[in-house]
Amino acid sequence: MTIKDIENIFEKTSPYMYRILRTADILKWQEENSENEHIGVLDFSELEGFEGVLIAALEYNPQEPELPEGCMSISPYYYFSNRYYMKLSNDLRPAEDRGEIRILRNSPLKVLANISGLGYYGKNSIIHNGEFGSSMFLYGVGINVEENESIEWNGINNVFSDCGSCRRCIEACPTGALDESGLLNRGKCIRNYMLEGTQVPEEIGKKMGKRLLGCDVCRNVCPKNNRLSARERMPDYDREIFLIRNYLDNREKGLKRFINPLSEWIGRNYARTKRVLYQCEIIDGNDKDV
Ligand code: SF4
Ligand code: SF4
Repeated sequence: MTIKDIENIFEKTSPYMYRILRTADILKWQEENSENEHIGVLDFSELEGFEGVLIAALEYNPQEPELPEGCMSISPYYYFSNRYYMKLSNDLRPAEDRGEIRILRNSPLKVLANISGLGYYGKNSIIHNGEFGSSMFLYGVGINVEENESIEWNGINNVFSDCGSCRRCIEACPTGALDESGLLNRGKCIRNYMLEGTQVPEEIGKKMGKRLLGCDVCRNVCPKNNRLSARERMPDYDREIFLIRNYLDNREKGLKRFINPLSEWIGRNYARTKRVLYQCEIIDGNDKDV
């Protein structure tokens, strides 16, 4: 499978940009930066046997539809990332089965996007660039150069962030999870507790509002996102699927008829019955507190 073949698959999904890095350059960079607190322990073992990686950013529209009364909401990122991931992986899997490429499932894609020059880290810990802001879904593929194919490899980018003196996301975060250096305190981040199967601290749960998945506060205040997307926004919320009472009132029986279609919006990994129910209880409690 050539880079051109991969481009053709991206083209049918969404506007995109990509960079290509040599595996040897990535591993050299990792060795040279092993002490960097922003980087931590990185696992690039998925790249073994592949000469390089193609890291792509695919644009999505971050605009959210109006939320019907009694419903919970999701971040458009999760709606689109589920769709993009399914589509790209279905189209690329035959080449992966032939051993020509490897879809990256566990590699640090944000790091790859940054060191390839595809985007910079914001102090909100999200990657952004001048084209898509931070409204992008990252996707990585291990590649080998095909016979007669010539590849223009990108060099390593060492610029971590371009936020300058801006602090909007730090000031806007409802739980104080961000600091000046751009490090995210995961223990304080609301998103980190949503549908993860972990106990939600009371003070964090209260800040979740009506959110089932995704927070977006630090994303939405960022001036890097000042451009309107020409892409279609996510569809209107389906009232049956997002109505909180449908889950709370049917907890003993019949939840599958809501969970199954919900998984088409956010993916099976997130749409797990017990976790969705737990989140509904938190949102219901928040509603009563208002
Ligand atoms: S809001 Fe400001 S500090 Fe935060 S990511 Fe955007 S540009 Fe950077
Ligand atoms: S996702 Fe929400 S809680 Fe997490 S850092 Fe951003 S604003 Fe704060």
